[in-house]
Amino acid sequence: MTFKKINIIEPILKALEEEKYSVPTPIQQQAIPVILKGNDIMGCAQTGTGKTAAFAIPILQQLANRPAKQPNVIRTLILTPTRELAIQISDNFTCYGRYLQLKHTLIFGGVSQFHQVKALRKGSDILIATPGRLLDLMSQKEIDLSNLEIFVLDEADRMLDMGFVYDVKKIVASLPAKRQTLLFSATMPDSIKKLAGKILSNPEYVSVDPVSSTAQSVTQSVYFVEKQDKEKLLANILDDASISRSLVFTRTKHGANKLVEKLSRKGISAAAIHGNKSQNARQKALADFKLNSLRVLVATDIASRGIDIDELPHVVNFDLPEVPETYVHRIGRTGRGGKSGTAITFCSTDEKSDLKNIEKLIGVSLTVSEVE
Ligand code: AMP
Repeated sequence: MTFKKINIIEPILKALEEEKYSVPTPIQQQAIPVILKGNDIMGCAQTGTGKTAAFAIPILQQLANRPAKQPNVIRTLILTPTRELAIQISDNFTCYGRYLQLKHTLIFGGVSQFHQVKALRKGSDILIATPGRLLDLMSQKEIDLSNLEIFVLDEADRMLDMGFVYDVKKIVASLPAKRQTLLFSATMPDSIKKLAGKILSNPEYVSVDPVSSTAQSVTQSVYFVEKQDKEKLLANILDDASISRSLVFTRTKHGANKLVEKLSRKGISAAAIHGNKSQNARQKALADFKLNSLRVLVATDIASRGIDIDELPHVVNFDLPEVPETYVHRIGRTGRGGKSGTAITFCSTDEKSDLKNIEKLIGVSLTVSEVE
């Protein structure tokens, strides 16, 4: 199977070749032909499966092949829950679309709207947005979606977890009824199925992992440890120099900050990313982590969404997530592309019921590791 075989046009093929993408990933093999046909899609895929390209490539191709009804109108909207994810999607469009004449604009909250509005006024074919800023700019009449052809709802489960359900409904209500809609979600709880029933029309279902499964290539284990002993345990684990980088999840922003402080005091380079950090601070922490100049990145779930780091072998659940599906998202950060990964979970007495729910969801009991 090659990208040429699934009829990708020359300018995109050239970009993919330069990216050294030799074969489409399974989600791309399934989704691209369906999207090119103009069908709606319900895609179940975890991060790391190549799902962004699975929608970005056929969207670029359709827009390039089909003339716009009017000049300078937004033809595609991609709605995604977090700024980091929006930036990554935008990077994907820049990458695969570099030999096409299509323009895309990125808008998200937490920064001044000035440059975003300026970019919008110049006109763009593709808009990548987080829900709050999109609604804000729509109410200011800076955005007109009446000519929309394709709507993508990315990371739909996370969108609902973050409480965006009313925003999403409001945005969908403002879109033309005749459109192509693509919904992607890592997990398919009932709330997502219900939403899909409302916004999709005769969708084809594509899926690369059984619902809520974790990657086979990830070794998962749990330490039973009390809250006050978790920092010490983490420091002990990190004594192993073969762990070059570790992504650590805490439940709260405060917890993330506290942990960074404690690790730094022990000489372990660490930084936190969460909603209270400025966009610049988050981007810097992520860049340092990617460049290996930071050993530990401590993240809350919301901030971590969509983090795309190649070859991340180590994830630690310092706190257990309350929503079991979140565990699947976290684990999805490691063991990508067939590489092996390790996911370690710290479970205190009051988190045992959360652990039970996770094990029920993934259908596996985590191996118990003993605290030395
Ligand atoms: P995603 O699931 O969209 O977060 O993508 C995960 C990673 O896979 C990203 O770093 C992409 O650049 C990469 N990727 C996507 N499609 C392919 C492909 N066909 N071959 C190799 N790498 C890919």
